[in-house]
Amino acid sequence: KKKSRLSVESYIEGVLKGDRMVLSRAITLVESSLLSDQLLAEKVMEGVLPYSGKSIRIGVTGVPGVGKSTFIESFGKILLDKGYKLAVLAIDPSSPKSGGSILGDKTRMEELSADKRAYIRPSPAGASLGGVSARTRESMILCEAAGHDVILIETVGVGQSEIAVKGMVDFFLLLMLAGAGDELQGIKKGIIEMCDALIINKADGENVEAAKRAKREYANALHLFPAKESGWVPQVKTCSALEKSGLEAAWEMIIEFKDKMTANGYLEFNRQEQRANWMQEHVRYLIENNFLHNPKVKSRMGEILPGIKSGKYSAIAKARELVDLFLINR
Ligand code: GDP
Repeated sequence: KKKSRLSVESYIEGVLKGDRMVLSRAITLVESSLLSDQLLAEKVMEGVLPYSGKSIRIGVTGVPGVGKSTFIESFGKILLDKGYKLAVLAIDPSSPKSGGSILGDKTRMEELSADKRAYIRPSPAGASLGGVSARTRESMILCEAAGHDVILIETVGVGQSEIAVKGMVDFFLLLMLAGAGDELQGIKKGIIEMCDALIINKADGENVEAAKRAKREYANALHLFPAKESGWVPQVKTCSALEKSGLEAAWEMIIEFKDKMTANGYLEFNRQEQRANWMQEHVRYLIENNFLHNPKVKSRMGEILPGIKSGKYSAIAKARELVDLFLINR
């Protein structure tokens, strides 16, 4: 079942040529948890990195049902018509309980999926948020190297994942609904504060007036937040992903953002910070992974855990003992 791997050079060449098959296989390689795959993936990433970074990276978040996939489908088609090459990636850590994924079903974005100029990749299944976000970043770089110049990263705005997305995009877009309070929408204040634009979707039919009211209310609310380091003033807009209205305006806003942030240097500054954080995050991930899989650590952990739970041992003292054990036996 398992396809044989390509050589490092073949992955790099194929990706740079924009070969979708090789791009998919490179992303699969990046998503693999096998050490041999990861080592190969690291070499591929080093090869493609110089050809990456030329896209605009956009995060799209909002609660289930707000219309994210409809928005991406309609918005994406507009971008294709303008001649852009699009990639859509999803960050959707599957819940350990259901094992299922909220974003992963393939029936979404049918038209976009069928278009050769769009590349759509659902979230890797069965991974933790840390794992998913690390892989999504690499996938984004691979898509850029393959010539995709708009990257949309979709996530469900109810958990930690939007913080991960914020950490890898230039522009962060929050989709909302009119007539449902923030509480009801499960959107935290912190997420509203992070966004560069808040768009009220489903501004169509009987909902138009309510959407306009919500727009005014959110615009007032956003004024109360401290000014952004970027100097960008977050925008509030309405759209109908279904009727394809307000989408051109959304794109114009993103272009305006890109132009302004390029001129004032924030775009590059932000990416530099993101790259630095990215490495630090991966260091933590590698250390933790190695630690947890270390046989000596595992066996000692098993011995002391009951004593930790009962309160017989000090958690901080035993934590240090385990780390010392790891450092000596790594
Ligand atoms: P997601 O869970 O955020 O990806 O939301 P979906 O894109 O799956 O949309 C959820 C439902 O809302 C679907 O039945 C869509 O047809 C509907 N929907 C999405 N966008 C709009 C819109 O702009 N107007 C209206 N009236 N319905 C919409």
